[in-house]
Amino acid sequence: MTVSEDLFARALRLIPGGVNSPVRAFRSVGGAPFFVKSARGATLTTADGRELIDFVCTWGPAIHGHNHPRIKAAIADALENGTSFGTPNPYEVEMAELITRFVPSIQKVRLCNSGTEATMSAIRLARGFTRRDKIIKFAGCYHGHSDSLLIKAGSGALTHGHPDSAGIPAAFAQETVVLPYNDRAAVEAAFAANPGQIACAIVEPYCGNVGFIMPDAGWLQHLRIVTAKHGALLIYDEVMTGFRLHKAGVQGLLADESDNCGRGAPTPKNVMPGEGTRPTSTPLVSLSTLPDLTCLGKIIGGGLPVGAFGGRADIMDMLAPLGPVYQAGTLSGNPLAMAAGIAALRLLDEENPYTHLDTLGQQLRDAVLTAAKSKGLPVQVPQCGSMLSAFFTPTCVRDYATALTGDARLFAKFFHTCLAKGVYLPPSAYESWFLSTAHDGPAIDRACEVMNEAIRDL
Ligand SMILES: *Cc1c(COP(=O)(O)O)cnc(C)c1O
Repeated sequence: MTVSEDLFARALRLIPGGVNSPVRAFRSVGGAPFFVKSARGATLTTADGRELIDFVCTWGPAIHGHNHPRIKAAIADALENGTSFGTPNPYEVEMAELITRFVPSIQKVRLCNSGTEATMSAIRLARGFTRRDKIIKFAGCYHGHSDSLLIKAGSGALTHGHPDSAGIPAAFAQETVVLPYNDRAAVEAAFAANPGQIACAIVEPYCGNVGFIMPDAGWLQHLRIVTAKHGALLIYDEVMTGFRLHKAGVQGLLADESDNCGRGAPTPKNVMPGEGTRPTSTPLVSLSTLPDLTCLGKIIGGGLPVGAFGGRADIMDMLAPLGPVYQAGTLSGNPLAMAAGIAALRLLDEENPYTHLDTLGQQLRDAVLTAAKSKGLPVQVPQCGSMLSAFFTPTCVRDYATALTGDARLFAKFFHTCLAKGVYLPPSAYESWFLSTAHDGPAIDRACEVMNEAIRDL
């Protein structure tokens, strides 16, 4: 028995499914998960001493690679002064200053402990502010596991074949209107059918939880205009994309009019020749893309547990203690998590690695496309910056339904061949792959080689 097998057997007796987050369990690709004893740069070292090139990057946070010396030093420094105070601390102020400086739509911000807390609280705030109950979400977008949001939620829920969770009262689910991503008519129809009742629309502006999907040109702008017209708030869930695609998240890309990583409006170039197309004619509406509220997490914790939500000051001031919307947290603004996050954000500010990360992302995308092409295998590889994923399908993937046309069985085979050759991809066809600045050089070259071989063997 390997060390991982022994650990998993022990875990299975005491932890449901042996894991503390379902998608770690390998259910969608088969087999048992491995345990990791350490991680550095782009490499995971398993409990059995195997080294793997990691494209999960702790599901997004590790944009600087694992165990970056600057982040480690920042945590060590903070540790000298204590782990939690239960009073305001100076790190919280610095974090709030960094976030509001990088993300112009955020005038005020509240820090919490996870992305789930951020989205849950932003929804409550939107309901309190508008005095309306219904919300719009989009199929395949994952916003954490709170009741109103865990409906057609992609990610782990989809991987396990349960697009909706048990345990959510029908009365709660009725308050959530679920629409197809990238569908303008559906948004207009939902507002027409629920006049004066919709508090907000929440969206992953680039969707990363059903594989990686980009918005059609102009779709986010349309969503902004329609929500504003009906007095509803627009919430961008940038827990995954915040600080990953641009220092100001997707809203930074859009405001720069550099949608699709500066490559202009999304084009079918990530699609096999002759396959699907995207509408590209709508002009981008500069600045009219900014959301009322934004949710953050993952990268802003530098690998420690953090979430944040922020936006217009008049809305944020509805929060307790100023206003009637209650939200709280014993460990919110925790000094260790703040110190790690501040170090991570400062590094991004200094290095501005986004163009470089996009080059690495394109290298990986091209390796998959080229290998698939020479084998005559249809594949879609949407990619922007350090996020991408591969759908084994001839269909252009632009929403939840088309994402499901991807051949998950073929992905599972691809996944296991890559893993056997030392490359760790997310253990599900419906998750984004992540790159870090540490993937530069030999790691990316080796990964391209392995993916080429794995596709040849499919
Ligand atoms: C990961 C994620 C969340 C949930 O964050 P947790 O820290 O896991 O609770 C919410 N929204 C999006 C877009 C995410 O990717």
